Amino acid sequence: MELCGEKSKILIFGGTGYLGQYMVKASVSLGHPTYAYTRPLTPNSSSTSKLQLLKEFESMGVTIFYGELDDHEKLVSVLRQVEVVISTLAVPQHLDQLKIISAIKEAGTIKRFVPSEYGNEVDRSSALPPFEALLANKRKIRRAAEAAGLSYTYVAGNSFLAYFVDYLLHPHDENKNEVVVYGSGEAKVAFNYEGDVAAYTVKAATDPRVANRVIIYRPPNNIVTQLQLISAWEKKSGRSFKRVHVPEEEVIKLSETLPYPDNIPVAVLHNIFIKGDQMSYELTEQDLEASKLYPDYEYTTVDKYLDMCVVNPPQPKLAAFA
Ligand code: NAP
Repeated sequence: MELCGEKSKILIFGGTGYLGQYMVKASVSLGHPTYAYTRPLTPNSSSTSKLQLLKEFESMGVTIFYGELDDHEKLVSVLRQVEVVISTLAVPQHLDQLKIISAIKEAGTIKRFVPSEYGNEVDRSSALPPFEALLANKRKIRRAAEAAGLSYTYVAGNSFLAYFVDYLLHPHDENKNEVVVYGSGEAKVAFNYEGDVAAYTVKAATDPRVANRVIIYRPPNNIVTQLQLISAWEKKSGRSFKRVHVPEEEVIKLSETLPYPDNIPVAVLHNIFIKGDQMSYELTEQDLEASKLYPDYEYTTVDKYLDMCVVNPPQPKLAAFA
């Protein structure tokens, strides 16, 4: 593992996805032999962006394995060629990770498994039912990894910075003169730039100190409320926005009345921006916090990211919520 001066063979599931692309790039830039397990291309996908992306990965030295999560024999044979597994599978595929866990157990060679989480510390969170169901799936995968006797690292990456700045502030939309504020807008939220979520995760996945531990991403300069984020963006952009508050009762009602899956985003917004779940517990001496564990890594601050938005407002491809 890395701290012993060696690089690990890292296999990434979901590497072609929103977070997965950052994860593959972080693994390569941190010098690890990097592998991606991806579903086979269909005839229609031959000219798509997925093919382009896989070519880009190959040009970076990434080895691509094509396979389905249902192909147990294939999974086991691929897993025997690597050492560390990082999953960035999409939300609807979270329970499919039971298949990965079963294959890791049979392969018997994997030194660390990082399941697809990257949000709240699920063992210290509770949410309205539509979001609670997703948290329950993540807990189920944690318990299955433990029951299988795997060495694991669980990542509480809290709120993705580019993703939520785009969602809340629409920095690319120059005609926008109002922003929605969920509840009072005073709950503290921990934001992490996607590239940093990936870099911290690759570091943690190869770090003996984070074996069988939860790592929490709460960089001190990135703990801000929604109102503070809006004010900071007003200062940076030289624009001003009308704040349109949506009361908590209304958000709760929407989570109860909207059909699935539209009820999920409102339940997530309630949990993060009204309940303030990500900052609702104190870190203790026993907790591992990423910016403390890797003090030499220069993370992207909210301030710096908003500067980037002024120069060239990014439009992250918004993927599945939560
Ligand atoms: P995503 O882009 O929606 O999907 C990731 C990958 O999953 C896809 O590229 C695909 O890989 C694979 N996949 C999709 N459908 C599949 C299927 N039917 N069967 C098998 N594989 C399938 O995922 P994401 O949005 O990056 O989410 C990754 C993780 O980040 C999730 O755990 C999510 O909860 C979390 N997240 C957190 C936040 C936050 O703010 N904290 C925000 C967004 C996401 P292949 O095509 O290569 O097989």
